Amino acid sequence: MSIDIKSSAEIESMKRANGIVVAVHKELREKLRPGISTRELDKIASGVIAKHSGAIPVFLGYHGFPATICVSIDSEVVHGIPSQDRFIVEGSIVSIDVGVKYRGFVGDAAVTYGVGKIDEAGRKLLIATRDSLYSAIEKARVGGRLSDISNAVESFVVPRGFSVVTEYVGHGVGREMHEEPQVPNFGRPGLGPRLKAGMTLAIEPMVNEGVGGTRVLSDGWTVVTADGRRSAHFEHSVAITKDGPIILSEGLPTGLD
Ligand code: MG
Repeated sequence: MSIDIKSSAEIESMKRANGIVVAVHKELREKLRPGISTRELDKIASGVIAKHSGAIPVFLGYHGFPATICVSIDSEVVHGIPSQDRFIVEGSIVSIDVGVKYRGFVGDAAVTYGVGKIDEAGRKLLIATRDSLYSAIEKARVGGRLSDISNAVESFVVPRGFSVVTEYVGHGVGREMHEEPQVPNFGRPGLGPRLKAGMTLAIEPMVNEGVGGTRVLSDGWTVVTADGRRSAHFEHSVAITKDGPIILSEGLPTGLD
């Protein structure tokens, strides 16, 4: 397994790709209201990406994925397919994942948004998932080990009564959306490759209200929780540098504002 090391110029390029991802999220946050279809959200995302000459959505066509963004609602964990027949409703939690390639580099980030007034349990799930991401990013430091990042997610959410999804994981990111290494959201600390300056990772906790298990719907894409309870997903693209972690997708909406 070899983990690609990016130069500082390459990291700057990744920041630009992620800047477009953040712009898409900001626009979607404005438009995410009860009554809008998930297909309409997808069109809005395509429109923002198209404003940047040369930028392309990386999910579209990936292993045949039919849309620009993934929209996963309530018990859907990840990889939900936007549809003209699916409408956003008040009180739901909506996970949106956006990936963009720009000038040879990929940006990748996800937020779970609360729509209108969400219940207290949903709010706690969102906050725990988001904060577990920042706890994991804190471990993305030179000299640490890969599983320190993984352990940070699990050790944050489990004591709060939640479960981590183990079937889907974060990943290296850069010229390709998925590079080495895989970045699980669970496991003992102190294991795996040593973290080095220039590694770039998409860290993405997927956290369930109930059990950690999942299954895939008959559309072949949408991952749902095994028990039908809700799931949240936050993701940042992060660069490890000698001066500490840099969040390349800085500026994402919080999901609750
Ligand atoms: Mg990702």
